Amino acid sequence: MLNQAGNAQPTIFAEMSALAMRTDSANLGQGFPDEDGPEWIRELAVDAIRAGVNQYAPGRGTAELRHAIAAHQAKHYGITLDPDREVLVTTGATEAIAAALIALTGPGDEVVTLEPFYDSHAASIAMAGATHVTVPLLARDGRFQLDLQALESAISDRTKAILVNTPHNPTGTVLTEAELDAIAAAAQRADAIVITDEVYEHLVFDEARHQPLASRPGMAERTLTISSSGKTFSITGWKIGWLTGPAELVDAVLAVKQFLTFTSGAPFQGAIAQALIDGDTDIRELRETLARRREVLIAGLSSAGFETFRPDGTYFVCADATPFLSSELPDGAAFARWLPENIGVACVPLSAFCAEGSPAAAEFANWVRFTFVKRDDTLHTAIERLQKLRAN
Ligand code: GLN
Repeated sequence: MLNQAGNAQPTIFAEMSALAMRTDSANLGQGFPDEDGPEWIRELAVDAIRAGVNQYAPGRGTAELRHAIAAHQAKHYGITLDPDREVLVTTGATEAIAAALIALTGPGDEVVTLEPFYDSHAASIAMAGATHVTVPLLARDGRFQLDLQALESAISDRTKAILVNTPHNPTGTVLTEAELDAIAAAAQRADAIVITDEVYEHLVFDEARHQPLASRPGMAERTLTISSSGKTFSITGWKIGWLTGPAELVDAVLAVKQFLTFTSGAPFQGAIAQALIDGDTDIRELRETLARRREVLIAGLSSAGFETFRPDGTYFVCADATPFLSSELPDGAAFARWLPENIGVACVPLSAFCAEGSPAAAEFANWVRFTFVKRDDTLHTAIERLQKLRAN
């Protein structure tokens, strides 16, 4: 987070986007759509601004949005929530995760995550003053799998929380029922809270199904479920997310949230409420578009010479860059920093999602992540340029 001079380092996503911009590269690094979400949803926010919805929203979020979030959890997952006590609107999932960790964990506590892990998860655990313990995913049989033995040994009586990201960024893994149940059993044994990051909940493909951990037997009372509207409706800049779970845990998070952002963007809340109620067709269309783009990117990466795993969810494909490494380009990080300048494509190294020197950092040293949440022409430009790698 901070370098030795105490200055904030840019995130790997900001670094790679800046590099992409400078080199006029096709940016398959930072995962954000280069097309706006549905117009009818955007129009609702414009209408709200024109109608004067421009002052602070209530701290928990508007009643309309909290009811819509509760209805969404009931419709998709059969989870029943009290919209007044068990739902909190946040400034994106990122704030919800930070506020939950700061509220519920601190010095002396251990927080377990998968590894690779999303960068803000590690930063938020550090801000809470807790200790980060990781369970590596293993790249086996075409899938990034949970290491069940490592899960066992990561859990101890110091485990205060397990932070679970599924569908998983960066690997695209959607945890299976067996993997979710192993995590549920570990949480129950350690009497730990589970905090989930489910922002890609609707971006799952083929036979894969997303299941919130809160819907597994016995988990509702110890789980805070976090998601957001950014990925589901391609409006990542609106920063409207939410957290749901037991009232006393939600209250603890609200106590922190009120001093982080106080409340979240008022004019967007009504639009998101409507989107959650009426947006199923838009979600289906986005999923179909992304499923098609996933195939386009996988085919392009394979023909360029990468080994890839087909992700079950998210908008990322991970690729093993080993065939292109050399003494000058010893690993995925060096490759990712070389690629924009020399080939005109940006990606992100998986090592950026690993702790330095960890077993996962070694396992994924040669891997990079490409996003397919880009227009067809961007994807085609990138794929065409990547074919030049074969000649190098
Ligand atoms: N979630 C996006 C990704 O994984 C990045 C968002 C950000 O830049 N922090 O690419």
